[in-house]
Amino acid sequence: MTKKIEEKKEIRVRFAPSPTGYLHVGNLRSALYDFLFAKQNQGTMILRIEDTDQKRYVEGSVEKLIESLRWANLDWQEGAFQTAEIKDNKTTVVTSESYPGIIEVGDSGPYIQSERLEIYQKYAEQLVQEGKAYYCFCEPERLEQMREEQIAQKRAHKYDRYCLKNVSQDQINENLKKGCAHTIRLKVPNDETIVFEDMIRGKVSFSTNTIDDQVLIKSDGFPTYHLASVVDDHLMKISHVIRGEEWLPSTPKHILLYRTFGWEEPTFAHLPLLLNPDKTKLSKRQGDVAVEDYLKKGYLKEALINFIALLGWNPGGGQTQEIFSLDELVKNFRLEKVHKAGAVFDLKKLDWINSQYIKKLSISDLLEKAQPFLREKDFFQEAPTEFQQKDYLEKILTIEQERLSKLSEVGEENKFFFKDKLSYEKELLVWKEMDFGSVKTNLRQALDVLKEIVPDGWRRDILAEKLLAAAGENRGEFLWPLRVALTGEQKSPSPSDVAWVLGQKESIQRIESALEK
Ligand code: GLU
Repeated sequence: MTKKIEEKKEIRVRFAPSPTGYLHVGNLRSALYDFLFAKQNQGTMILRIEDTDQKRYVEGSVEKLIESLRWANLDWQEGAFQTAEIKDNKTTVVTSESYPGIIEVGDSGPYIQSERLEIYQKYAEQLVQEGKAYYCFCEPERLEQMREEQIAQKRAHKYDRYCLKNVSQDQINENLKKGCAHTIRLKVPNDETIVFEDMIRGKVSFSTNTIDDQVLIKSDGFPTYHLASVVDDHLMKISHVIRGEEWLPSTPKHILLYRTFGWEEPTFAHLPLLLNPDKTKLSKRQGDVAVEDYLKKGYLKEALINFIALLGWNPGGGQTQEIFSLDELVKNFRLEKVHKAGAVFDLKKLDWINSQYIKKLSISDLLEKAQPFLREKDFFQEAPTEFQQKDYLEKILTIEQERLSKLSEVGEENKFFFKDKLSYEKELLVWKEMDFGSVKTNLRQALDVLKEIVPDGWRRDILAEKLLAAAGENRGEFLWPLRVALTGEQKSPSPSDVAWVLGQKESIQRIESALEK
C-alpha cells in the first residue's frame, strides 16, 4: 500500500489595503484576523499596498497604514515596511520607487501594486494571445450610452462585446500602433456555473451569465483591482484570502480568472458585513469608520482591538468570555468559527469593553492616557494651577476610574474639582424639608469633624467613616448640604470622596463659603 504523503501547505495571508487616507475599522478587523490566523499556523502575513486607483490615493497614507498596524501590534513578515524598521538580511530588501521611506521586504516583491504594472500587462497580454481576453477601444461615451439603455430596459449591465465582434485583427493592430486608448477585457464564458467553497459562507455558486466581460487593464495602463489582486495572490503564493464580505461579489470574477489562467485558487474567507445598529451597512454617514476617530474619542487600543475581534467571532461552546488580550485571541480565535451574519457595530458594547480596560489601568497609566483629553477641556485650561497638579489629578481619577467608559469623559462629570469658586443657589444646600437653620448647624458640625482630622488621617476610608458616624441616622440632612457645599452640584460622588480629593484646606474653605451664603 502506498502512503500518500500529504504536503502541508504553507499558510500565507495578505493584508491588502488601498492607501486612501485612513484605516477603516473593517480593514483593521481583516488585518487582525489575518494576523491571528497566520500566527496560529506559523504562517506568513504580507502587507501589500493596492494603489492602482491613482485617483483615490491620499498623500502619506501608506506610511499611516504601516504606523496603524504597528500601533495595533499586528506583526507582518513580508511586504511594505518603513525604512526605519530593521529586518534580518536573509530576505530581499529593496527601497520603494514610489514612496520614499518605504522598503519592500521578501522574495515575492514588489509589494506595491503601482510598481508591478509590467507584470499585470504581461499576464493580460498572455490572455489576449490565448484568445481569452480582448482589446476594447470603445469610448467612454459609447459605454455610458449603452449603460443608460440597459438601465432603461432594466437589463443587467454588461458590455455588448462590440469590439470582440466587430474589430478585425488588422484594425486592432493599427489602433494599437496609433496609440488609441483601449482596455483589455476578459472574455467571460456563457452558461457556466462556477462553485467555490468559502471558509465562512460555505458553498457559493454563481452563473457566468451574470458576469460582465470585466476590464483587466484600464485605459491608463493600470490593472483593475480584480486582475491585480488575482495575479498578486497567485505570485505571492497566498493560501488564504481573508477579507470583508463587500468583496464577495468580486470573488466570482477572481475565480474565473484563476481558472482562465489555470492557477490553483486560494481558500477564501469572507468576513461578515459591519452594520449600524439599525442593520444598515456601517457607513461614514452614521458614525465613525476610521480607527483614529475612535482613538480621538478616548477608546484604548486594547479595547478597540478586543471589540473588533468580536465583530463576527466569539469563543462559542458556552464560553462567555468577552475580554481578550491579543495573546488570548491568538490562542482562542478560530477563523472557521467566524459567522456569516452581519456584525452590529454596537457602541454600547465598545464602551463597556473600554470601561473594563480602563478599570485595569494603574492610576498613573490612566492619568498619562487621560491627560491629552484633559488638556483640551476649557474647564481644565481655566483651572488654577493647584488644580492641575499630578497628585490632585490622580486623586480625581481614582474617584472616576470606576465610572469612565471613555478617556474623553475625564472630569466632565466633576468639573467642580477644577473650579476656584462654585456658583450655586443657596437653596440647593437644603435637603428635602430642612430649614436653613439646620443646614447651618449640620455644615458647622461637618466642618468641625473635618478640621479635627490630622493631615495623615486625610484618607478616603477615614473620611467616609468619620462623616458617616457624624451623620448617624440623619444621613440626608447631614451629607446632602455638605456634598453641595463641596461641589455646588445636584449630583456628584460622595462628600467623603470629594473632600479627600479637594484636601483639607480647600474642603474647609468651600464649607465656609457655603455657610456665608
Ligand atoms: N484593496 C482592497 C481594499 O482596500 C483589498 C480587498 C481584498 O482584500 O481583496 O480593501
